[in-house]
Amino acid sequence: MLAAAHESGAAVALLSGGTDLVPALRSGERVADAVVALRRVLELRVRGAGADSLTIGAGVTYADLVGWSLSPGLARAARVVGSVQIRNTGTVGGALGSVRPAGDLLTYLTAADAEVLTASPRGTRWRPLGQFLAEGVEADGLVTAVRLARPGGPQVHVKIGGRQAAYPAIVSCAVVVDRVRHRVACAIGGVGRLPARMGGAESFAVDEVDWTTGTIPVQAARRFGDLVVEAVAGISPVLPVGPGESADYRCHAAGVLASRALARCLHPQATRATQPATTTELATDAQPGTARPSDPTAGPGAAGRGGGS
Ligand SMILES: Cc1cc2nc3c(=O)[nH]c(=O)nc-3n(C[C@H](O)[C@H](O)[C@H](O)COP(=O)(O)OP(=O)(O)OC[C@H]3O[C@@H](n4cnc5c(N)ncnc54)[C@H](O)[C@@H]3O)c2cc1C
Repeated sequence: MLAAAHESGAAVALLSGGTDLVPALRSGERVADAVVALRRVLELRVRGAGADSLTIGAGVTYADLVGWSLSPGLARAARVVGSVQIRNTGTVGGALGSVRPAGDLLTYLTAADAEVLTASPRGTRWRPLGQFLAEGVEADGLVTAVRLARPGGPQVHVKIGGRQAAYPAIVSCAVVVDRVRHRVACAIGGVGRLPARMGGAESFAVDEVDWTTGTIPVQAARRFGDLVVEAVAGISPVLPVGPGESADYRCHAAGVLASRALARCLHPQATRATQPATTTELATDAQPGTARPSDPTAGPGAAGRGGGS
């Protein structure tokens, strides 16, 4: 149907959950001569696990992923998307079709080195997420699945933004630790057109982790956040700014979210040289729902900004 509509020269829109497409059609932001609805294509709603990888169909909803124990990071990212209505209808394929700069799923998939499967009349092909985002999907094609490695360690997804049910995140962060392959991956969403990997901070963390215990020194966890701030400051601020959404705010929030996510994965340990006061400070940072005073997710306004997620 998609190929036929495309061949006829019609402007075609793929419809999955419709949480992004329907408002865009209603507002006139998108115009379509034909809509191809995918909800009843059951093959797209399958998810599965192989020996080394997890595959998730494009039609799988956030609600389907919320309780998926095989991928705690993915479940965590899905749990903090919008409201229950959005999670019940929004899909993986739609998230990849919309490419929101701070999209929760997109940020997590960036950290998880996901691959994307697309299909068109010319066949199917897997591409790394970065390549898929650069090239896009063919006009007569669609996303059919994503694939990621099975988790090899702790994974955390955190974000900050307006009221979660109504607004997407301003800044999102995913940290994925692989204790088997000794890897740390960190992606920040909401600081550029696409979520970005924090390569410098990742390399620094890999050298600092005690891989036997899966812990990191307190100072190193803090330095990790500083390195993320430095990296984010170097990204061209192409996103629109508004109250509480300035480049400086996004930068600061990225650093706090990154050090918090790393702390939740790697339980910072005080070294002998560390003063007791510093230990207390970071121990607070590692607790969900609490934060240092400079943390933008702290304070009376934090609940309203969705900071706890
Ligand atoms: C009130 C509200 C709150 C939200 N909160 C959040 C949030 O907290 N976090 C977050 O990340 N997002 C949030 N969103 C965004 C939204 O829910 C996601 O982007 C969602 O994943 C889109 O999926 P969908 O199935 O609804 O896509 P649709 O709306 O059906 O489609 C979205 C786009 O993708 C294309 N598309 C759909 N399926 C495919 C496919 N298989 N292959 C290729 N292209 C395809 C469509 O043509 C369209 O361009 C929110 C949205 C709303 C309305």
